[in-house]
Amino acid sequence: MTLQEKIGILGAAARYDASCASSGSRRSGDVGRASVSGICHSWADDGRCISLLKILLSNCCIYDCAYCINRRSNDVPRASFTAEELADLTIQFYRRNYIEGLFLSSAVFGSPDLTMEQMIRVVMKLRRDHRFGGYIHMKAIPGANPDLIRRAGLLVDRLSVNIELPSEQSLKQLAPDKSKDDILKPMTLIKSGIVENRAERKQSKKAPHFVPAGQSTQLIVGASPESDRHILNLSENLYQRYQLKRVYYSAFVPVNEDGRLPTLAAPPLVREHRLYQADWLIRKYGFEAEEVLPEQTPFLDEQFDPKTAWALRNLQAFPVEVNRAEFEQLLRVPGIGHVSAQRILASRRISMLRVEDLPKLGVVMKRARFFVTCSGAYAGAAIPRGADLRRLMLAEGPAPASSQQLTLAGIL
Ligand code: SF4
Repeated sequence: MTLQEKIGILGAAARYDASCASSGSRRSGDVGRASVSGICHSWADDGRCISLLKILLSNCCIYDCAYCINRRSNDVPRASFTAEELADLTIQFYRRNYIEGLFLSSAVFGSPDLTMEQMIRVVMKLRRDHRFGGYIHMKAIPGANPDLIRRAGLLVDRLSVNIELPSEQSLKQLAPDKSKDDILKPMTLIKSGIVENRAERKQSKKAPHFVPAGQSTQLIVGASPESDRHILNLSENLYQRYQLKRVYYSAFVPVNEDGRLPTLAAPPLVREHRLYQADWLIRKYGFEAEEVLPEQTPFLDEQFDPKTAWALRNLQAFPVEVNRAEFEQLLRVPGIGHVSAQRILASRRISMLRVEDLPKLGVVMKRARFFVTCSGAYAGAAIPRGADLRRLMLAEGPAPASSQQLTLAGIL
């Protein structure tokens, strides 16, 4: 098999892993279809967008996860790189300026330890033989020996252990070769490694880095019956217990005929998008999962972003007076984000704010006007007493329902 053929098979096979930001890109057109060539984009800790070669070391898997194209029971073309081939390929792509780093994943061939050892060989070749200092994100294989996870952690920038399914029951049903323990153990190990490394580096700047860009995970949405509420609570727990940098949500894409899987008309992309928005509220806006989705609301609203949906359920918290509200209160107003809240605080130190000042400060009035007052007066048209605000807002212009139109900015 030629190297080009291997790149075709293993680049395409890596497409279903959403742990890089542009992994889900399925746009048509001849220009910019990075995922086809195995290139994806991610964000470094300093906010830079970096392009990564996203590829599997092998797609020959000993496991048989119901949802996966690479499962052992599928009759698909199989290929594996040698460590030398993949390291050389990465360096060639890097020298040609195609990529700035590598996202390395793999099916489990032979055993978790053997797979992990081979992945480490690739990274060792890059770091030691090629003196490659670029970004490397590597999958940690559940069930691999802790020493291998530690060795990998000293070589790469980010490690991720994929949870895949949101409950132990679903894991047993759809990925019977995996276990909750095999997934959570490496997560615990990576977390303690990061914490210890921070302490070591405070003592000595010469101490080697251990997973400096932190750890992340991926969850498949829609392959199993768990609610958004269940998923969000799980994510919150993962952020708190394992100090994850990111949980990536991946809409279930049916690629196999399997009676254990649901029949979906299309991948639940709007649901995936709403989960990202809700996750953002938890990580950046001080919301708790229980507030975003209380017990009586198991699923996110498809028509409104999670912040607006929360505001509509909690009208007693509004209107917020922009000339007096605390920063945290402002952050909870639909249409006001971090930047506009900071600008409001800075501007009102100089003079009282007027309604016409708000758009200039970045406030999205289309949403905010229902929830704020300026010196006691509503910022927009008066809302008829007893009006159904949800219906009114929908009539004014529904939130985009098509995934192509959705952006993270929608949560402001
Ligand atoms: S372990 Fe499961 S999800 Fe991973 S490649 Fe193998 S079959 Fe696919």
